[in-house]
Amino acid sequence: MHGEELNARAAIRLLRLDDDSVLPAEGEPLPAGFILSAGKKRAERIEAIRGRNDTALLPLFLDGEPAAGEIELVDAPSSSESEMEQTAESILERLGEIDQNLIRRNLDFRLLAFLFSRKNKTLRPHLDPYSPGLYSYPLAEALSMQELDSDRWIQDLFEKGYLTEGVLVDRIRRCPKCDGAHINYVETCPSCDSIDIHQVPFIHCFTCGRVAPQEKFLTDSGLQCPFCHTKLRHIGSDYDRPLENYECRDCSHTFNEPKIACYCLLCGKRSTPEELVPRSFREYALSDKGFMAVRSGVTEEMYMLLDTLNYMKPEPFNYILDWMLRLAQRPPVDPFGLLVVSFPNLDELSATMGRHKSLQLFDALAKRLKELIRSTDISTRTSRHNLVLLLPKTPKTGAGIVASRIRDLREFTRQPDGTVLDIAVKLAGFPDDLRRGETAELLLERMQGE
Ligand SMILES: [Zn+2]
Ligand SMILES: [Zn+2]
Ligand SMILES: [Zn+2]
Repeated sequence: MHGEELNARAAIRLLRLDDDSVLPAEGEPLPAGFILSAGKKRAERIEAIRGRNDTALLPLFLDGEPAAGEIELVDAPSSSESEMEQTAESILERLGEIDQNLIRRNLDFRLLAFLFSRKNKTLRPHLDPYSPGLYSYPLAEALSMQELDSDRWIQDLFEKGYLTEGVLVDRIRRCPKCDGAHINYVETCPSCDSIDIHQVPFIHCFTCGRVAPQEKFLTDSGLQCPFCHTKLRHIGSDYDRPLENYECRDCSHTFNEPKIACYCLLCGKRSTPEELVPRSFREYALSDKGFMAVRSGVTEEMYMLLDTLNYMKPEPFNYILDWMLRLAQRPPVDPFGLLVVSFPNLDELSATMGRHKSLQLFDALAKRLKELIRSTDISTRTSRHNLVLLLPKTPKTGAGIVASRIRDLREFTRQPDGTVLDIAVKLAGFPDDLRRGETAELLLERMQGE
């Protein structure tokens, strides 16, 4: 049995679930959202709802306070049911703006859509001291049903520009062999690697210059050098205390700085501190590009196929282009080309051909494009959905040849009924088309505007 709360005013129906009630099966009508009562199965329930492609993004509230690991997965705690309904309403309104099929089949979109549908929602790392990697992103884990390494997945979405970095939460070091973060740091003897070392006071005799542990200098009549037998009376004039204050019990080596050995507690690998892999954990939020991607849906999914062409985020791309533009002002100049590729009828084509076929076509096209570019060429995508290719060490004539080969791919996209994907390519060659003082941003603006 599960109690259902109906609210006639907002027509938002939140389904209340306790330990005994069952989730609607796939294909059954779904409520607008869920309220979970406290119970032993609550955590499991939350994971189940977030892991299913039909319920993953639905509003989900808890009675009472969420546990540490649950906060990321549920919607803002509310004091009253009417408050929950209001929150649910605004989430559902945002979700209504998105292509539902896309959310169901594409995990990247599902995660981005979650952020899109919740205002100010960020992806936050959660510390689980018992997990091998210590930190994870619970929402990403749950949405992917623990299939994806949440950390790598988020990193990948960030690299592609769909997420922006937020607050740095922590930095840890991981074992280079197993990726585990449970490391024991031990001081060892730099000569024989033994961990059996101890700190002892040392004395440095000024008369003979030798150094030994203080105990060797102790006699009934005060300090005396065991080597040259000089009586040591005054520190500073007869002797002093050297920096060395460690001794190895295995090989008797004395030293002032022990070597740090890092033992992985999970796989046993021994590493030096430099060999450990540092990893920062940050909060992430939806970027402008991510926001647009969720809005434009299918088209964005097609453009994502272009991100396999030595893709670089717009910021580093512009940085390199700026630098090359500055270099081009001082002879001798290494020529380079810049192409802006656009697909004017892509939206139209995907509407008439259907999603599946147009995706296939675009995928094949992306593969052809990949064959035309070199490993040193780099690409980015602008917010206007244009593909920008930077061809280093290529004179304008060479860039012109690449441009016409890309235009020729239009024929490759020709369908039996005669429809084709239009491919427009704009070209600039440097230093030929150099305008003094023009930055990468202005240049791209000009080329896309013409
Ligand atoms: Zn030793
Ligand atoms: Zn001496
Ligand atoms: Zn390890």
